[in-house]
Amino acid sequence: MSAESPGQKQGFKSFLSNALRPKKSRQTLRKGSRSTTDLRLAARPSIDEGPPPPLPPPPMPELAPLHAHRLKYKDLHAQVDSQLGERRDYTEIIHSLGTLGSDDDDHALRYSQNIHRPPGEGDIASLPPKLWGQIASYLDPAEAASLAITSITLYRRLGPGYFRELAHPQNLPYKITFLAGLDLSLPNHLLCIPCARYHTRTQRGTERLRPTHILNPLFACPNSTNALNPPPRHRITHGRMLPFTFVQLTMRAHRFGPSYGLTPDALARRWQRDNWSHTSRFHIHAGRLLMRVTSQTFAAPALTPSAQRMLLFSREDYWPYFSACAHWRDGELMPACKCALEHIPRPRSTGGLQGLEHKVKDRWTGGVFDPNALTTLCGFCRPMRRCPECPTEYLIEVKLCEDRADGRFKQAITVTRWTDLGDGKTPDGIQWAAINGCSEEYDSFQHEHYAKRGIASIFEAAFTSDTLPGQRVVSLNPKMKKLGEKGNDWY
Ligand SMILES: [Zn+2]
Ligand SMILES: [Zn+2]
Ligand SMILES: [Zn+2]
Repeated sequence: MSAESPGQKQGFKSFLSNALRPKKSRQTLRKGSRSTTDLRLAARPSIDEGPPPPLPPPPMPELAPLHAHRLKYKDLHAQVDSQLGERRDYTEIIHSLGTLGSDDDDHALRYSQNIHRPPGEGDIASLPPKLWGQIASYLDPAEAASLAITSITLYRRLGPGYFRELAHPQNLPYKITFLAGLDLSLPNHLLCIPCARYHTRTQRGTERLRPTHILNPLFACPNSTNALNPPPRHRITHGRMLPFTFVQLTMRAHRFGPSYGLTPDALARRWQRDNWSHTSRFHIHAGRLLMRVTSQTFAAPALTPSAQRMLLFSREDYWPYFSACAHWRDGELMPACKCALEHIPRPRSTGGLQGLEHKVKDRWTGGVFDPNALTTLCGFCRPMRRCPECPTEYLIEVKLCEDRADGRFKQAITVTRWTDLGDGKTPDGIQWAAINGCSEEYDSFQHEHYAKRGIASIFEAAFTSDTLPGQRVVSLNPKMKKLGEKGNDWY
């Protein structure tokens, strides 16, 4: 006991002195600086009321490290060589990108830096034209031309040769990439892909997606009637196309502002054709336009194979009535649709001995045949299917729906397709090329965008009202057999 008491006393003493010692944080506050870090401390609930903290807080620096870092680089930025007008620290730009946040203060700071920044023309002019030519030689024709129009000084250094190069027919994809880069300065125009030039928008702000048979020019184009040079477009369903111009308009408006085009909601449509009803909806995710098309038709039970084909295929072009990517003939999309149709409950035969047996059985079990019974799909036709060659996913469902014609509930097959239409810059974009069957490179299970999370899952998460049950995603073409029209399974 006697050995413990001095220790206890000492402990109590140090506890008291610790509690009474002015806190480091309080010292910092007394300095009265109005930096954000101190304000944040002042806004903290008072610590004095509660029990003392077990450890004193570490000493506070006068400035937050990030703030100090910014000031240091601001100082360096101010050091401009009086002879050449060059900045001494070339890493400033990169650092300022990393250290400047997006809050209002930083916006103002960046803005004032841009205004007061000495013009870079001196820096550009200080390098000989030969060196600029060498720099441009590392760039592709589109990038080199973009560099040449950056400023009048650069244009004088690099000359008009890069624009003449773009005019070569073999450089057409580069020309389109270069022109697409001018979108920001041309809100009243649209880049026409067949002409590789900008036309004035004739329906500015009122552009609407219309069925294919309705003439719907968005600009006056000399190639509009040239069947050999058609504008890029994607088939949604029979008689419905999505021209690339609408993807351009939507993505431009997303990137630069409403005056540049349309919102994704303006593309949404509902239509009916050949006993199928379709609903399309659009959503922008991570700089790319996503589309969902839901197609539905009533399906009678126990259809024969030929009746199943009548139900699923258009006799005009032997495409499915629902929306499909360019690879729908390969793999298991059509067999899965037919499998789903097989699951629709069949009425029992009521005649003959078998019918009598059923009647007795039904009375014995107290149950009767119910045409409105829920349809359960099997492990083959139920899972979400993803096309391995393009960013497209399909889901097949069979459910009861009300037929407005007679007010009765009937079984209906629904095929929903989710697809990624790309960034809308050029039709050579990897997603647009893949869904139209123009790219062999795309692997949807390996591609970084959808390796971890499906297109449907991303799309449905954006609309909380439409919740999608957890689905496992399997390949539409697990054996990767590519026979196209020559294959036997699709029809
Ligand atoms: Zn044109
Ligand atoms: Zn099945
Ligand atoms: Zn596909």
